[in-house]
Parts: sequence; C-alpha cells; structure tokens
Amino acid sequence: MFDDINDLYQQVILDHCKKPRNFHEMAQATCSAQGHNPLCGDQLKLFLSLEGDKISDVSFVGSGCCISKASASLLTEFAKGKTRADVETMFERVHEMVTTGKVLGDVGKLAVFAGVHKYPARVKCAILSWHALMAALKGDQKPVTTENEQA
Ligand code: ZN
Repeated sequence: MFDDINDLYQQVILDHCKKPRNFHEMAQATCSAQGHNPLCGDQLKLFLSLEGDKISDVSFVGSGCCISKASASLLTEFAKGKTRADVETMFERVHEMVTTGKVLGDVGKLAVFAGVHKYPARVKCAILSWHALMAALKGDQKPVTTENEQA
C-alpha cells in the first residue's frame, strides 16, 4: 500500500489491522460515538468507560480499510488510562501528523501514521477514530463523518 513507508511501520499497521486490539462492544460504556468515512466506506463505533476525567476502558467495533482499523486499534491502546486532556493533546498531534507529516512531541506508536499525509485519501481513514473519540468525550450523539474534514 505504501511504497516508501518504513517496513516496521507497515508491519505495525498490518498487525493491528489483522488483529485489532480492544475490538468488541462494551455493555458498561458510559459514552460512545459512531464514525463514518463515506469516501472509503469506513464505519466504526467507539465505546468509552469514563471514571471522572479518566478513560478507564475503551473499545471499538466496525469495518473498514486497514488504515482505519489499525488507527482505531492503536487509539484504544493509547487512550486506556488517559485523561480527557491527554487525549485532546494527542488528537492535535495526530491530526497535525497525518495532515502535514510534522510530528510535534511524543506520539509513541502512533508515529506509524506519519506517512499517511502523503496520501490525502487516507488521511480521513486515519483520523476517523480520533474524531469519534472526541465526539464521544463531548457526548455528541450525532454520528461523526469525515465529509467536512480538510485533508
Ligand atoms: Zn479507509
């Protein structure tokens, strides 16, 4: 899929795509949000369990391309145990990284998506789960769509 992406990055994405982490519904979720990327056909639903300001658990279900699934899978790994502020900071970093390729600060494993900015159609796949996460934290009931996302 990516010609010039680092092999390791590609392996991480493929691994999370084939074996998504935290891939299940969550009956005890305190909030959830749905995301849809009409350009690619990616659909997902994200579940959060909030304890005060902290995300104690997070999971997702859905279908879509490898990038969208790997992004959601890595997002759940990142978000578990984090605070609302941690997640907002990381959303800004991931958004900047996938749209411009600039990595601001420590993004951990999420760095695997740095190459996505070279593929404008894939940016929405990578950012979909993040928009869903922000919507879930805000309590938005309306499904998120990447339609208005500036790639
Ligand atoms: Zn996609």
